[in-house]
Amino acid sequence: MARTLNDSLWRQLTEELTTSMREWRSLHPKATLREIETELDARLARARARMLEDLALASTAATWQEAARLQTPTCPECGTPLDERDTHPRTLLTHGGQELTLERSYGVCPECGSGLFPPR
Ligand SMILES: [Zn+2]
Repeated sequence: MARTLNDSLWRQLTEELTTSMREWRSLHPKATLREIETELDARLARARARMLEDLALASTAATWQEAARLQTPTCPECGTPLDERDTHPRTLLTHGGQELTLERSYGVCPECGSGLFPPR
């Protein structure tokens, strides 16, 4: 069963965006369009990173156990089915310069010890 989008997270992000921009605007009644745009972009970039993270996790969907029911990942060196190890977080940077952390399964070959992230 694929992971679905985190609805409460999305609601929370959009509410925070609305609330914080409303507050900022009331405190900066004389802000220029450029200043407003800069504030909005900074908030959007933060929300965007969280949304992107949630979307990426939802679209890659399956844990390795789920994928393994269809096809067991094998060692590229010797062809032995891999043992799944803990997920390793990967940290990426979005276009907005926000950090994004993704978890993905990591496999180790029980025969030759090669490790790899299976392609998704
Ligand atoms: Zn191997």
